[in-house]
Amino acid sequence: MGISSRIAAACLRHYKIDAIVLPTNTREGYELARKHIHTEVCHPLKGVVGDLLGFLEQEKQRLGQEAVTSRYVFILPTTDGPCRFGKYRETVRFFLDDEGYADLPIAGPTTKTDYLDILSGKYTARDQMTIQKLLLRGLIASDLLDDITLRYRPYCPKDQIEQLKELRLTELEQCLVDGCSVRELVAWGQETVRQFSRFQSAERFPLVLYSGEIYMRMHDPYTNNVIEKLEENRLEVVRCSMIEWFDYINCTNLLQTRCRIATALKTFDWRDFFGGLAAWTKLTVKYAYIRHIRKVLSKPFHEVLNGRHSLPPMMTLLKTLETAGEFHSSVSGESILGIGMVYVLLHGLSGRHGRGISGIFHVGPFTCMHEGVVTAKTEGMIRRWRKQHPDVVFPVIDAYFGDSPNPNLDAEIAIFREQCYQKQYLAAQQPELVSVG
Ligand code: SF4
Repeated sequence: MGISSRIAAACLRHYKIDAIVLPTNTREGYELARKHIHTEVCHPLKGVVGDLLGFLEQEKQRLGQEAVTSRYVFILPTTDGPCRFGKYRETVRFFLDDEGYADLPIAGPTTKTDYLDILSGKYTARDQMTIQKLLLRGLIASDLLDDITLRYRPYCPKDQIEQLKELRLTELEQCLVDGCSVRELVAWGQETVRQFSRFQSAERFPLVLYSGEIYMRMHDPYTNNVIEKLEENRLEVVRCSMIEWFDYINCTNLLQTRCRIATALKTFDWRDFFGGLAAWTKLTVKYAYIRHIRKVLSKPFHEVLNGRHSLPPMMTLLKTLETAGEFHSSVSGESILGIGMVYVLLHGLSGRHGRGISGIFHVGPFTCMHEGVVTAKTEGMIRRWRKQHPDVVFPVIDAYFGDSPNPNLDAEIAIFREQCYQKQYLAAQQPELVSVG
């Protein structure tokens, strides 16, 4: 899933687990996925299945089926719902068996344990904690690398920016394989900023928040690299980060554990009370760790990324929506994130640092349950809001991707661009009029 897969693989290699990232978006994978999946539902599943079967097919040609089955484990993080993602593992198992890989194991952490179960078997609790910290550091650093790339890419020779990104990413991977300290990662960040700063640009295009379903949002080949299309339309993109998902899972697990402790207390269920307390302690340590590492690692990037991030902290976002009666964090899954971002931008609740987001480009897989809820909910919120603020511009585009491309996407992006420029202009002329961002 974008560069974060390379980060996860590097962290596993620190533990001498020979982890590799599957080649993605291959012709072979495309065909094999469609051999098994005949509907447009859950496009990411086609991506996951295609990448896996495509790679195994190549390896089978090279090594033979038996060698492949005994050589590989497929790492697929999972969840217990509420959408179809909760059944990806069973579905992939089904297709693997169908393709003759019945003995090829599938493993991976789950949201239920807050992804605290990455390593199993011979690894100690200490190993679990260390790889957790390494992964969080790596993801936060890779988000910053993606961010600085998107900050400069619209204004500079794309190939040079991509080349530098690849160099810095390779360096980051090696740091993680070596089990780097926070100090070493700060130094990596300072050097990254120094190297990117040679791409100075006076001009700044309107900022577009790129939100939506995590797989499509982070894995550009499966949106036909629509981010680059936005940049070609002279827009600067702010992608919602990978760590946002880990932060969200941690916060909702914390909220649910609080409820568990309260219930156990009310029912004098001491075993569950102390079990909940232990879980809550682990979750709180992780909650604090994410915030600490984000603060330390983002420091060298503050100046160059100034104005790009203006969303409130995760717990504030969740609580704001609940207080407003717009949505509730007990409804798990990504919907609340997409709805929350529109709500806080719509009501000008974003951070004070914002130069201001000029528009929201919301991506999702065709027929995705969560993103469908986001679109339905936010369309209503915006319509209500526009009745009270008829003069204010608030550009939002819902772009869905699947096998059959949207024939109007280019035209929709052209209109969206004009609206973003209009909003940027109005924000400069009359900041009080455009409370968004
Ligand atoms: S998030 Fe959307 S696309 Fe992904 S599994 Fe759930 S419903 Fe399907």
